[in-house]
Formats: sequence, C-alpha cells, structure tokens
Amino acid sequence: MPTATAQHLIDGHEVPSRSGATFESLDPATGAPLGTVSFGDESDVDRAVRSAATAFDDGRWHHLAPAERARRMRRVATLLDDNAERLAELEARDSGAPLTKTRGDVGAAAGLFNYFAQLPEHVSGRTYATEPGYFIYSTRTPYGVVGAIAPWNFPLLLAGWKTAPALAVGNSVVLKMAEQTPLSTSEFGRICLEAGIPPGVINIVHGDGPTTGAALVRHPHVRKITFTGSTDVGRQILRDAAQEIKSVHLELGGKSPNIVFADADLGQAVDGSLFTTFFNSGQVCTSGSRILVDERVADEFCQAFVERAAKLVVGNPLDPATQLGPLVSRAQQERVTGYINSWREEGATVLLGSANSTPAGTEGGYFVAPTVFGAVTPDMRIAREEIFGPVATVIPFSDEQQAVKLANDVEYGLAATVWTQDLGRAMRMSEQLEAGIIWTNCPNHGQWNVPYEGHKLSGLGEDKGLESIDTFTQLKTHHVNFGGHRSRWA
Ligand code: ADP
Repeated sequence: MPTATAQHLIDGHEVPSRSGATFESLDPATGAPLGTVSFGDESDVDRAVRSAATAFDDGRWHHLAPAERARRMRRVATLLDDNAERLAELEARDSGAPLTKTRGDVGAAAGLFNYFAQLPEHVSGRTYATEPGYFIYSTRTPYGVVGAIAPWNFPLLLAGWKTAPALAVGNSVVLKMAEQTPLSTSEFGRICLEAGIPPGVINIVHGDGPTTGAALVRHPHVRKITFTGSTDVGRQILRDAAQEIKSVHLELGGKSPNIVFADADLGQAVDGSLFTTFFNSGQVCTSGSRILVDERVADEFCQAFVERAAKLVVGNPLDPATQLGPLVSRAQQERVTGYINSWREEGATVLLGSANSTPAGTEGGYFVAPTVFGAVTPDMRIAREEIFGPVATVIPFSDEQQAVKLANDVEYGLAATVWTQDLGRAMRMSEQLEAGIIWTNCPNHGQWNVPYEGHKLSGLGEDKGLESIDTFTQLKTHHVNFGGHRSRWA
C-alpha cells in the first residue's frame, strides 16, 4: 500500500499545517510507518474554528430546510457504504483492529448517519400555560461551533458518532481525531464534502492532545465540546472549558462489572463474557472484563472461559481468521503489560497468558496475548483501574448482596452486565447497580435510538437517541405580549 498523507480539512480544502509540522502514523501490526500526517498547532486550530464560525454565521447549513439536511446526511451514509471495503482495510491497518471488526464499524458509521439524519426533522420546542394575552414557547437552537474530540479505538465510527448528531441539529464542527488513528478520518472528511455537507461546516484538525486538542477546547468561538476518551483527559477538558463556561459532553472510562450468577445459562455467560472482555483486544470503554462470579460456579465458569480464551486467534488484522489484533501503540502495549506484570506484587493467580505474543510475520507489532487472572481481590489495582487491553480479572462472590457491593465499589459507572435466568434478580440488580447502561444477558447490546450516559467518573451528558437533540442544542424561551399588557410601572 502506498504511504498515505493526511492533511487538515479547513473550509473545504485539504491543507498542511502553517508550520509545516507533521507526524507519522504507525502500523500497529509491524511498527512500520503507514502515513505522514499534518500536526496542527494553535494557529491551525484557529483557522479551522474561524471557518466553522463563518459557516455557522452565514447559515449555509443550519438555514437549509431540515429535510434537505437530512437528505445530505443520508448521502454520507450511502457513500460510507459504497466505500466500505477500502475504508475498513485502511482502518484495520491504522488501528490494528481486525478487518472483521473494522468492516462492522464502517457499516455502523453509515448506520448512525442514517439514524441521525432523522434528527433535523424532530427538533421541536414546547408551549407553556400562561395568562390571556401572552404566548410563551421554547425553541432549541444550535450552539454554533462544536469541538469534537475522539479516541482511537473505533476511529471512523467515533468520527461519525461525535459529528453526526451535532451536524443534524445545525451546528458546524471541528473534529480532532486521535493521533494514533488519523487516516480514515481524512477519508471521512472527503465523503462529507462529496455528500453535500458545505465547506466549513465540517473541519478536521490532526495532532496530539496537549497541543491540538487543548487549543480546540480553549478556543473562545467553540461553545460546545463533545469528548470521548479517558477520565483524566475529561477532567483536564472540564478545567480548560471553565474559563469560558463552555458546555461539555463527556463519555469517559469504565471498569464495568460482568456478574455471573449460579442460576445463569453458563454457556451463554461464557460466550458473552469472552466477547465483552476480548473484543477489540479489550480496548473498549464498556469492556466487561471485571468478571464477578458466584463462588458456587466459579471453577466451572473459569475452566470453560480459559479454555475458550486460549483458542482465540491473535494475528494480523488483515487475516480474516484474526479475532485479536495488536494493541494500538507501543505505549498502550507497555501500559497493559505493566498491569499484567503487577500481578506478582498483588498476589493474583494467572489462569492464562501473561506474556506478549507476536504472531509470525508481525515482529515489531504491539501484540498482547489474552490474559486471565483468578483469585483477584477487590482492592487490587487490576480489579479497580481501567486496563484497556485483553485482560480479564475474576472475582468470586457469595451472594446477591455482596455482588452489588463489589460491582458498585469502583469509581466508574459506565455499564454493567448481569447473567441470570431469574427475572426478579435481574430487576433487583438493574435497580441497584450504579451505571448508565445495564445489560441483562446481553453485554454490549446497543442501538442508535437508545440513549445512555456514564455515571460517576464515566461521563457527563447523554449520547445517542433523541436525547442528542438536547445535548447539541441550547434552550431558548420566547415570551410574547400580544394582549396589550402594560408595564407594572406604566
Ligand atoms: P485514550 O486513553 O483512549 O488514549 P485519551 O483520553 O488520551 O484517550 O485521548 C482521547 C482524545 O483526546 C485524543 O484525540 C487525544 O489527542 C485527545 N486529548 C488528549 N489530551 C487532551 C487535552 N488535554 N485536551 C484535549 N484533547 C486531548
């Protein structure tokens, strides 16, 4: 494959950084350079934001009829589908995720543009009871310029997830994709333009977090930030947004409990736990790798889980048989192996793995083998901190009450899964678990029309669904005196 080059997209043009600075995007399967990417600083971010602000001010997008905005968004979906195979391959190379996963992501990115294309025609306000001679109503108005910042684990999907709802309700967007996975985002920008999203309405600036991302958050013309990423960066964004009192929407980390009761269908629980733990090599914010198992079935569960985990295929992302590709970067590989190596001090038992595995032909890649720890206690770091790698921790519990206590005993509150055949237990657990999404017998089930928000340290504000209208618009109330009422001081 020829070396790709990704530049910023500003006002409908692909442009280099003013400074000429670039960085390399590396192939996680080999460590070899894959593409040269423009590195944006404050002045490039400023150009992009000004382009978005001008596009908003002249109404070239939000003054279009809602049905016309919807039509163009559906066209984005069609073009994503038309280019699916090429985009999936590019993304597999850039992110290291298996082709089977990136194909699904391109389809999902198209799916969400189709879903969010319904939003322009559903933005509505309310009228309010009042005294005769007055009429009071509310409208929802776009913020203007939205700064969207995305991570690397689902690049194209998250580029769409962050931008589609913001665009649907009339905003202009400046998108900052993760520095590890910039290549498919440039293709996404071209597709948006071809679909008829006007120049300047969607802008893309490449670069890192502390320089490029922070400049976007701090820019005074950006009125709304939507961010998906780590809790630490979410905190920093809140601090940076405080000066201008910006509205901030955050989808952050997780350490989601995956609770297996003795009355569960164990085969189903093993299948689902395997997927939620190892899908995308565990680099998923809703990963249910914190497995809590009823002590009466713990041995049986662990034996089946480890047997199956040992057979997962780790390999080249472009091989159709691969289930786990490499991690996204050397830094991520070192972070995850650091957690794995901490088991010695912490006293967990290694049930599987604990070593790097480098498939033949991919020496230099950032691979980590599926790893399972047993005899984990709730106070261990591996039981409390988000690892973002293919690492499961198994913690036994004795009864339902203890399961709830253990499940809630982390700082995060993104998702939780319950495996049980007892409806009463399922409902009791749903009520008591502290998380924004509760899955009963179906981890990672999701639909665009179903909203969620992270609780505790996992986020702020609602994603997906019709709730996105509120996330990406501001409320305005209008009081009209048509009855000739005079001022109290008249
Ligand atoms: P992850 O832990 O998944 O790597 P991060 O939270 O580090 O995620 O990064 C997610 C996104 O946030 C990336 O696009 C990154 O460049 C950006 N980012 C990192 N630091 C900052 C910051 N201080 N301000 C704004 N964006 C940032």
